[in-house]
Amino acid sequence: MSASALSTQHTVEQARELALRAVDFLLEHQVPPIPLSYGVAYEYLSGGSPDLCKTLDEYLQSGRTIDAFVLRDLHERHLAVDRSTPLSSMGNDLQLLLGELTHNIEEAGRGAEEFGLALDNTLGHLGSEHDAHSLREIASGMLAATQKARQRNEHLQERLQLTMAESERLKVELERHRREALIDPLTGLWNRRAMDSELDELMAVEPDAPLSVLMLDIDHFKRINDTHGHALGDAVLRHVAEAIRKCLRGNDQAVRYGGEEFLVLLPRTSLVEAAQVAESIRARVAALRLRRRSDNLVLEPFTVSLGVASRKPGDTRDTLLRRTDRALYRSKDNGRNRVSLDAEIGLQAGLA
Ligand code: GH3
Ligand code: MG
Ligand code: MG
Repeated sequence: MSASALSTQHTVEQARELALRAVDFLLEHQVPPIPLSYGVAYEYLSGGSPDLCKTLDEYLQSGRTIDAFVLRDLHERHLAVDRSTPLSSMGNDLQLLLGELTHNIEEAGRGAEEFGLALDNTLGHLGSEHDAHSLREIASGMLAATQKARQRNEHLQERLQLTMAESERLKVELERHRREALIDPLTGLWNRRAMDSELDELMAVEPDAPLSVLMLDIDHFKRINDTHGHALGDAVLRHVAEAIRKCLRGNDQAVRYGGEEFLVLLPRTSLVEAAQVAESIRARVAALRLRRRSDNLVLEPFTVSLGVASRKPGDTRDTLLRRTDRALYRSKDNGRNRVSLDAEIGLQAGLA
């Protein structure tokens, strides 16, 4: 449960009332009251997270299906705990490692100083003493100092090797966490979180270069799920992701934006060029013929709708995505299986 829900002070009676309403809300939408869905419903009804309430209200007003997938998406976007926690604990490991390295370096310095002093001392004696006995003593003193220095160096080398191995392990782990936090496990595409920062960066780094975005939504995807089950629905999502991937050019980046919605960021790409990429994705998906291996079921062909928009002066990430979304919904309104361009540009002739 989120921090906001926990911090909301409810009496036992209020909490009981909310709990019952949350279960009713789920049953009304035919969602099994599993803990994650229940948590989102409870949070929504208690008003603990304004952003979550706003998004879910919009979904309800637009008549969008509310199911376990949608609630999982909302949980991920608005309630999930910060996934950077493992990264901060790795920060502590890194701190320890740096401490160890500094200690080793200081020790190496002290060792060299000690060895230097021992040599100075011995060489000082060499200046005044000449008999064989004292020369032997000086030589054995030098030998002892050299042996000590060698031992100390060997020990240091071992510790440095361990430190290096540990730093390599941390590097691999850091990379794994970074990928896990940014990659959608089902499709292997970037997830929404990755897209947010990537799009912000693209908009900031090349403020004057053309930049387009396309948004894709599978048509009547719910029917596929309802008819053939969620496992096949998941397979369809993977095939759509693969079809998108095959249409990308060098710098394009594909993102699983939500349940069955995808985005492609197209840097240095005009609206017309982006529309061509969108059209190639649309055609590739429409041509897919999928067969389930287990029982040879041939899935009826399915389609996708797409919207395309290009950055305009003064655009933020939100305004650009909103226009892309509007273009997508024009495709839906006009009969699906088509590409629509951002209406305000007026270039949709022939493509919308
Ligand atoms: P439209 O053409 O208007 O887009 O209709 P639709 O049926 O595609 O849209 P709707 O929003 O009604 O349903 C989308 C469905 O996508 C609801 C949900 O069950 C399903 N979904 C979302 N995420 C996943 C997922 O990860 N796996 C599967 N199998 N289904 C998912
Ligand atoms: Mg959708
Ligand atoms: Mg859909």
